[in-house]
Amino acid sequence: MPIIKVANIDFRYKDIRALREISFQVRRGEFLGIIGPNGSGKTTLIRVIDGILVPEKGGVSISGSAIRGMRRRDVARLVAVVPQDFPMIFSFRAREIVMMGRSPHLGMLRFEGESDLEITRRAMEMTDTLPLADRSMDSLSGGERQRVLIARALAQEPEVVLLDEPTAFLDIKHQMEFFGLMKRLNREKGLTVIAVTHDINLAAAYCDRVMLLKEGRIHSLGAPGEVITKSNIREVYETDVLVDANPLNGLPRITLLGSTLSGQESRSEAGAAPQL
Ligand code: ADP
Ligand code: MG
Repeated sequence: MPIIKVANIDFRYKDIRALREISFQVRRGEFLGIIGPNGSGKTTLIRVIDGILVPEKGGVSISGSAIRGMRRRDVARLVAVVPQDFPMIFSFRAREIVMMGRSPHLGMLRFEGESDLEITRRAMEMTDTLPLADRSMDSLSGGERQRVLIARALAQEPEVVLLDEPTAFLDIKHQMEFFGLMKRLNREKGLTVIAVTHDINLAAAYCDRVMLLKEGRIHSLGAPGEVITKSNIREVYETDVLVDANPLNGLPRITLLGSTLSGQESRSEAGAAPQL
């Protein structure tokens, strides 16, 4: 049984059709990347999967249960989201934000026990946020805040994490550490990861499958090598790129060219290195 089943979703914001006829399944332990231009529906899809947005047509089920009608607390035990935009959490300390990840697991009295403290500490250790524990969120940089939100998602101990451009504010060290951490949790603990990213090369390097969205529809979905092709990128992003194989792992790698350089691009296809 797939862990996530998205069946025939249509979603609109008043007169804007943000998602159309979206159907796909994610297997337990899969790492799925979602790419697509600005406004193609990536964030909307993440919020529909999390059950925050209710589609006008179709439905989402997680581990066989329809998400519509589930209590938020029950959804939160299965799914954690690292949002693209930070909610207004600024007066809290980092440690308190991470501890909030435990709330769907607390008992009737809502007290945190020893194990909740330990899980919180471990989540902060994994994300390199322990040194920030007593800082208030509004004193942190964008990247530090994002790492705290990632720690909160890990403290939630979900089966699925939904990440909306999780590395947008991270420097390259923390970007690599973050994707490395997600891949390790994915491999070792069978965590299912769905990550929206702007970075097509990161998606190619870390994801089992990649979904390419265009104007609210799935343009293509498959292994990185099937989806990240020159013609798909041109059709969806209306821009020319060079796609070659990353010498480190053989996975597709794109290089931005820009439309005015198309002459050089075709030369590079004939074997010469592109001169940028
Ligand atoms: P992405 O994350 O791929 O950039 P979004 O899912 O945020 O795309 O947006 C998809 C479409 O829905 C866009 O046309 C966007 O302008 C529109 N949209 C997103 N959020 C809202 C909203 N709260 N109200 C109205 N339209 C929205
Ligand atoms: Mg978005």
